[in-house]
Amino acid sequence: MASTDSGPHKSAVERIEQPDMIYQPQRTARAYTSVRKYGWLLTVLIALGGQFFSFLGLFVPFIMALMIGLSLSKGLYFCGNFCPHGSYYDVPLFKFSRLKSIPYFFKNKILVTAIFLFFLVNVNLQLNSAIQSGEAAFVNRIGSVFARVYLVVFMVATVLGLLINSRTWCYFCPMRTLQIMGYRIGKKLGLTEGRDELITIKNKEKCVECGKCSRVCPIQLKPYPVLKYKVQGDQLKDEHCMRCLVCVKNCPVEVLELAKERGK
Ligand code: SF4
Ligand code: SF4
Repeated sequence: MASTDSGPHKSAVERIEQPDMIYQPQRTARAYTSVRKYGWLLTVLIALGGQFFSFLGLFVPFIMALMIGLSLSKGLYFCGNFCPHGSYYDVPLFKFSRLKSIPYFFKNKILVTAIFLFFLVNVNLQLNSAIQSGEAAFVNRIGSVFARVYLVVFMVATVLGLLINSRTWCYFCPMRTLQIMGYRIGKKLGLTEGRDELITIKNKEKCVECGKCSRVCPIQLKPYPVLKYKVQGDQLKDEHCMRCLVCVKNCPVEVLELAKERGK
């Protein structure tokens, strides 16, 4: 696993071609809005409080509906701007994370699909059993299913976040997989047109090739060198981009922006 940020110009094209070639992560503030600063409190409330007050788990289906709805036109925008778990990874967990490079292994398609199916089957089985119980309190049982899932995610993501990188979970999060599916469907239906925004380089000549945008990206995407050198154009057409603006805010020459998709 290569992990370097030296000699940017010489190996720039090579870094585009090798997806597992990543930059050494760099610490920087990631929460620019109140939702991103304090959203993590909701995660803690549902994951921990939901074990005692199961109705708190009923927030989760609403969060999921918002996530999926937004993904149809704006991809992973929710992950970078509204996700309560994302806020947990970017604020408290970030402070204590070792902030190592996330191994590319966690992006493996088989692993991502297996985890998605595992959650899908498990949650459905549990929901089914809650609904069929016929008990008067079945709504609370549904809430407790979601609260338990939140707790599992919270615990696994915390361990990985502390030991590796605070956004490690995001690489294989089932909700991310679902949103990417939503985004692809949205694209096919034309729902992204005029709504989707992508990281855009305003002027390639102004880029000083410092690589900071790639070092600060929470999920290790590479605005540099992709935008500087790739022939595909001035916009980052990576469906994993969360539109979180961390790269934009950290570019020393302010050459990046979030702009409407310009089409093919
Ligand atoms: S490329 Fe920029 S906007 Fe996209 S996830 Fe990385 S830091 Fe966020
Ligand atoms: S942070 Fe800005 S100047 Fe530095 S490599 Fe990225 S786009 Fe270029």
